Amino acid sequence: MMGGQPIIILKEGTERQRGKGAQSNNIAAAKAVADAVRSTLGPRGMDKMLVDSLGDVVITNDGATILKEIDIEHPAAKMIVEVSKTQDDECGDGTTTAVVLAGEMLKKAEELIDQNVHPTIITNGFRQASTEAIKHLQDIAIKVDLKDEKTLKDVAMTAMTGKSVGNAKEHLANIAVKAITSVADKDGKGYLVDVSNIKIEKKHGGAVSDTELIEGLILDKEKVHPRMPVKIANAKIALINSALEIKKTEIDANIQIRDPAQLQQFMDEEEKTLKGMVEMVKKSGANVLFCQKGIDDLAQHYLAKEGIFAIRRVTESDLKKLARATGGKIVTNLKDLTKADLGSAKTVEERKVGDSEMTFVTGCKDPRSVSILIRGGTEHVVDEVDRALHDALKVVAVAIEDEMIVPGAGAPELELSLRLRDYASSVGGREQLAIEAFARALEIIPWTLAENAGLDSIDVLIKLKAAHEGKKGNKYAGIDVFSGDVKDMKKAKILEPLRVKKQALESATEVANMILRIDDVIASKKGAGGPPGGAGGMPPGMGGMPGMM
Ligand code: ADP
Ligand code: MG
Repeated sequence: MMGGQPIIILKEGTERQRGKGAQSNNIAAAKAVADAVRSTLGPRGMDKMLVDSLGDVVITNDGATILKEIDIEHPAAKMIVEVSKTQDDECGDGTTTAVVLAGEMLKKAEELIDQNVHPTIITNGFRQASTEAIKHLQDIAIKVDLKDEKTLKDVAMTAMTGKSVGNAKEHLANIAVKAITSVADKDGKGYLVDVSNIKIEKKHGGAVSDTELIEGLILDKEKVHPRMPVKIANAKIALINSALEIKKTEIDANIQIRDPAQLQQFMDEEEKTLKGMVEMVKKSGANVLFCQKGIDDLAQHYLAKEGIFAIRRVTESDLKKLARATGGKIVTNLKDLTKADLGSAKTVEERKVGDSEMTFVTGCKDPRSVSILIRGGTEHVVDEVDRALHDALKVVAVAIEDEMIVPGAGAPELELSLRLRDYASSVGGREQLAIEAFARALEIIPWTLAENAGLDSIDVLIKLKAAHEGKKGNKYAGIDVFSGDVKDMKKAKILEPLRVKKQALESATEVANMILRIDDVIASKKGAGGPPGGAGGMPPGMGGMPGMM
């Protein structure tokens, strides 16, 4: 105040909320997001039906997908959604876990704030707890090898439990492991896996069990000319990224033709050029041509005459995949095309799938790129299989890259929770309270797994703790959600990549801390809708969300 006049530094209409009000509002929003996806956690989690503004329906059990599809406005809630995205990008799985953990950490933090523990103490404690937890997590992890296909299959199966893929789970897990081990690149002592080298094609129709792995590539394209052969055995494949067309000049030029003979000569010249191009393909020994650009009608005709199978306008990324799959080289200048540049495949063939023609390049020797053709009764089924496979592929890739896995089903969370309690008492002080709160927050995972399975969560937690504690304690004891029994999850083969658990812990802690440190929300005026995070409890859109699901 200067001379009784308040100093206004914010534009009119800006909403500001400070201190505990801002904090509890943010925490409430984050918890609401966590509550929204909680019921999907685990093999017995429920699905959600999402209807977008155009009326399109998505039915899924996948945390990342749910949060991606719903419109969230609250800034703190958006931060939680970011966590699920990061988790999805890094690991492809564990998205619900990360979000549920973050929500629970904030809930526990709120209780401490109510007891007048300062947020800085809480965030410090959480950070220490997370570092310590990850140390212990690495300690309980198990090594896995690229050649151990059985274990990798278990990892894929665990990632797919709860997804509506019916009885085809094992079939899909086999496909995922084969696909990933094919495209894994050796990198020093370990492996690097780029999942994008696996091409996914979806066609509804048939059954999920008809989903197949192609040791090669599928292109959703048909041959350019009806008279080309439908099937080429022993394919020698040319990969060209320039057009088989007469080059158009950059500048507009007019050619004045006065004499009909001249016109003929002009056309002959064009024909000769195109014929020459086809000659070059033929001379290289190729019987299949994949071209990234266009192929002139006349060139198509000559190619067909030579019995060459050709496809035009193949995308750049598909051409690269074809190169990896067939061992061929992409050539720009047709003149440079030689036998050595050609890729090979047992067969290249056009097949009818559903109601359209697709091209199959199969039987590649040691393909570094493969395809999966997803089938299923309806489009919704195909899409959910796609999401399940995405998780399965990514977890197998991550398991191969890190060569480390942990048994799941709530076992690691409970073990870490118990170990952190011991650690907390060694730290002492007020941070001890925060570390204990963090430890209790971890219990939310086995708790929710039990709850979603219709089991008594308190009973389950007591049984689990008893199994973990003491000299004979089993660190891998988890909850079998189908029988309600506590079991050794290493033996039960419920296995997840270490990275999934680690990333979930790290990002949940990070976002919880970030939200806890905010004590001031300054929101500029926004259109007609009220400012997000504004005073008056939950902003529009957030308040009704959990009920809506
Ligand atoms: P997220 O999006 O976090 O991956 P999920 O719905 O896939 O969520 O559930 C993952 C949790 O379910 C993990 O804690 C995992 O260990 C557990 N889980 C998976 N399969 C089983 C099973 N057969 N029995 C018990 N828990 C399981
Ligand atoms: Mg999962």
